[in-house]
Amino acid sequence: MKASRMLISTLKEAPNEAKIDSHILLLRAGMVKNEIAGVYNYLPLGLRVLNKIENIIKEEMDNSGALEILCSAIQPKELWVESGRWMKYGPELMRLKDRHDRELCLGPTHEEIFTSIARELIKSPKMLPMNIYQIQTKYRDEFRPRYGLMRSREFIMKDAYSFDKDEEGLEKSYQNMYDTYSKIFTRLGIHYQVVLADTGNIGGNGSHQFMAISNIGESEVVYCDKCGYAADVEKATITEIEESTDELLPLKKVETPNQRTIEEISSFLNVDPSKTAKTIIYHDFVNEKLVAAVVRGDREVNTVKLVNEASSNENYFVLATDEEIKSLGTIHGFCGPKDLKCDIYIDIEVSRMHNVIIGANELNYHYINANFERDFTGKVCDIKNARANDLCPCCKNPMKQNRGIEVGQIFKLQTKYSEPMKCTYVNEKGENIPMRMGCYGIGVSRTLQSIVEQYHDEYGIKWPLNVAPYHAVIVPITTKDEAQFNLANQIYEELKKKHVEVILDDRDAKPGFKFKDWELIGIPYMVVCGKRASEGIVEFKNRQTLEKEELTVSDAVNRIIDAVANI
Ligand code: ATP
Ligand code: MG
Repeated sequence: MKASRMLISTLKEAPNEAKIDSHILLLRAGMVKNEIAGVYNYLPLGLRVLNKIENIIKEEMDNSGALEILCSAIQPKELWVESGRWMKYGPELMRLKDRHDRELCLGPTHEEIFTSIARELIKSPKMLPMNIYQIQTKYRDEFRPRYGLMRSREFIMKDAYSFDKDEEGLEKSYQNMYDTYSKIFTRLGIHYQVVLADTGNIGGNGSHQFMAISNIGESEVVYCDKCGYAADVEKATITEIEESTDELLPLKKVETPNQRTIEEISSFLNVDPSKTAKTIIYHDFVNEKLVAAVVRGDREVNTVKLVNEASSNENYFVLATDEEIKSLGTIHGFCGPKDLKCDIYIDIEVSRMHNVIIGANELNYHYINANFERDFTGKVCDIKNARANDLCPCCKNPMKQNRGIEVGQIFKLQTKYSEPMKCTYVNEKGENIPMRMGCYGIGVSRTLQSIVEQYHDEYGIKWPLNVAPYHAVIVPITTKDEAQFNLANQIYEELKKKHVEVILDDRDAKPGFKFKDWELIGIPYMVVCGKRASEGIVEFKNRQTLEKEELTVSDAVNRIIDAVANI
């Protein structure tokens, strides 16, 4: 491709809303273009990368035995009513009506559609197991779209759904996808960690997330170096502390004027925050009540665990307002579990502490030396986020913490959809048995940006060769110098013949300007035809290592051909 014919739209600066390197670089390199919040267009260079990522995913999915289909984004309300999700999904679901007032939605995911396809098309148990997948655009009206393709409202997902006769079959299908995902992310060059994930109300250890390791990741992971346990902090369990052996002291109400936060209270009373407990009140719209969660003062409530305990739904579970808190006879900043008239969930850790500081449900007062069962009670459960130094639930080793970008998730759905939607097969006894399902997602566009997050430097993107928009670029220092331009052309033609995806920078521009463009765009190899062109010597630049070497034309050409042949 000749650079003069390309749509190169590099920018010196990224628009203000881009906060993280990968988002800034995708915009600056002209890979994508933003129109409305959380919605992106792919420009030629970005699309080439996207296609390559998709091809790798397709190859591995096809190798796994899965069958590719392509579904519409538009889905009928009726199927979502059947699965019970039309009411449950909340405002993230983009709902619409056609001109006949028929209610529809833009699919945020496709369980309903695939279950409907399977129940109609899988006629005999002999057709099982079956795994069907697609790469397709998804819509989620995210509350806070941000970080570019990382959390957008329209994004590309690879989603697969497996159908099996029984648990043993599902186990195999799941493992097959686990292995396939590992191959995909390895081929894509992603540094990743596989972690146990939450399965909501289905329970069990039936889900894993694939996390691209990154400081800007929204997910937090704890892991154990010793035994390999790794889990999202929302899912992770820990070895809980033993019951304290401290002597129980008498409960005492103390004045704590204007001391509302844990930091304020602990510094006012001169104790460590870990000696306090915080009580947070939520409005559970599913069960239409207020509930309280109590965790150690220096901990965070894990709403996923709490919602599971309360048999509620995350989309309908929010912090209570000051008014609602007042209606319980308490006051924001001074809430505590003693005599509180609502369902109270007490984290196990708090139940095992002695002489804790809690709010007194009265303006400007707290209790000191409060003790579970003697002074307050509630349902004891695990409702906290795990974190670094908590003890591993398997081997009690102190765990470490990482941040990650969730690029994929696999999930044993069991019969969550097949049962209500009657996706069944007939067994030897003539009974209708719901199929065991699994679902498997990869955020394709999020993965693209995660690669940039892991492969960049101050000059721009450093695409791994197998997903780079082009493999190499040939830059004559000046297009007006015949020797340089002819040599550049000759190398360009030779590489093209060998199926290298190559660009000839025939633009009439300063060399520094050109170099900056290609470094920003992230083309893995650059061949510069300069002063020594007439001797057949070129400069060879490696974008990953930033190394520059003088090579003969044939050495430079062979390096590129060899590298591309080994992709
Ligand atoms: P998250 O917790 O990040 O919101 P999720 O668990 O809701 O994601 P899934 O339903 O498991 O997402 O979707 C499968 C994959 O799709 C995710 O692993 C992620 O890579 C990607 N994905 C989900 N939401 C978005 C989004 N808003 N923008 C881009 N990719 C997304
Ligand atoms: Mg997920």
